[in-house]
Amino acid sequence: HRAFVRLEDISPGSDPTELRTMADYLASQNIPYGINVIPVYTDPRGVYNNGTPQTITLAQAPDVVAALQYMLAHGAVLMNHGYTHQYSNVNNPYTGVTADDFEFFRSHVDAANNVVYDGPPAEDSTAWAQSRVTAALAGFAAAGLPRPALWTTPHYAASAADYRVFGQNYTARLERPLYFAGTLSGAPVNPGRYIGQFFPYAVKDVYGTTVLPEDIGNYEPVPVNNHPARLPADLINSARANLAVRDGVASFFYHPYYPVAPLQQTIDGIRALGYTFVGPMDLAN
Ligand SMILES: [Zn+2]
Repeated sequence: HRAFVRLEDISPGSDPTELRTMADYLASQNIPYGINVIPVYTDPRGVYNNGTPQTITLAQAPDVVAALQYMLAHGAVLMNHGYTHQYSNVNNPYTGVTADDFEFFRSHVDAANNVVYDGPPAEDSTAWAQSRVTAALAGFAAAGLPRPALWTTPHYAASAADYRVFGQNYTARLERPLYFAGTLSGAPVNPGRYIGQFFPYAVKDVYGTTVLPEDIGNYEPVPVNNHPARLPADLINSARANLAVRDGVASFFYHPYYPVAPLQQTIDGIRALGYTFVGPMDLAN
């Protein structure tokens, strides 16, 4: 059984020291891993910047780029996690800030504090999605980084047209996708009727793309929007349950702004179940 870990929501706003700390721990364990990078950090209304709008590209964050290069030299594989990982200059649903919000889907928080999906943005189209992908790839190139071959949709949500665009620009997607009514029959897709699905192994999906597994979720020490906290023991329990799947993969993600210790506990626990950590490309077959 194979396992995979990726570091999530890295952007030009990340702390390069935290990135290097993660890199050194994972290298010390000889663990290949993914780094999911958002090439532009933006806070269009200055929510975290005293009301002053802030945008930082990778090219404007040389210390972050140097940390990414360090990671790539020590077992990391570059992945692309959206263009800005937020939408316009509005709350979608939280702050309008990179890594907080949806990029390719609208959403809001209801009175019961649940996140509600509202469907694709009005301007959603193949051309709109392609323009964001093109801008994202240009951001990596401008910073002297390699072209990422893998894509993860911000908060996993996009329209059927968007997922097809991602599939045309990357070797594979790694995520839990949405699938829309009408997709199989060839009828016009209903953007308001869909289900989310996740896989314990690689598949070729109805959008024509290889989808790499994400079935274990992530470490989250504090409950958010009626989602309970998920601690290392919870992730390890999910990995244990997935041993029932022949060729099943335990694939999870971790935010590098958390300390190393919970990541270490998770990795140690998953390894103790007999899993071997591999790089993302090794999940494709
Ligand atoms: Zn994200």
